[in-house]
Amino acid sequence: MADLRELYQEVILDHGRRPRNFRSLEQPSCSVEGYNPLCGDHFTVHLEMDGDRVKEVAFEGAGCAISTASASLMTQAMQGKTRAEAEILFKKFHSLVMGEATDESLPEEPRLGKLEVLAGVKDFPTRVKCATLAWHTFHAALENRTEAVTTE
Ligand code: ZN
Repeated sequence: MADLRELYQEVILDHGRRPRNFRSLEQPSCSVEGYNPLCGDHFTVHLEMDGDRVKEVAFEGAGCAISTASASLMTQAMQGKTRAEAEILFKKFHSLVMGEATDESLPEEPRLGKLEVLAGVKDFPTRVKCATLAWHTFHAALENRTEAVTTE
C-alpha cells in the first residue's frame, strides 16, 4: 500500500495551492460544470476555441488539492492543442490515472510530460475521480456538451 504522502509531491502541492488559469473567460466557446459528489469537488471549465485549436482553457470553483492541481495542470496541458491532440492527451491521462496501459495505437505526441506526477492516484480509487473531474468536464466542453458532468 503506497503512502498517501507520495501523492502530495511538490508539483501537486504547488498547483493545488496556486492553481493556474483559475478564472473565467470573456468569450468562452463553451462552459461546463463538473461535480464529484464523492469528494465535493465542483468546477466550471471554460473553453475558448480558435477554429480547430484550443485557444484558452480556464476553470473556477472549489475542490480538494488533487482535483484542483489536476485541473490546473490540465489547463496548461491543453493550451494551444488541436482538437485531435486534446483528444489523445485526454485518453493518455485517463489511462495514466486508471493504471491502464496506454493504447499503443495512439501517436507519441502530445506527451504527458508533467502530468505524470498524477500517476500515483491510481492506487486510490476515490482520488481517481478527483483527478479526472476537470478532464471529463473539459472533454464535454470540447464536444460542446453543456449539461453538467458528474463522476458518479
Ligand atoms: Zn477531491
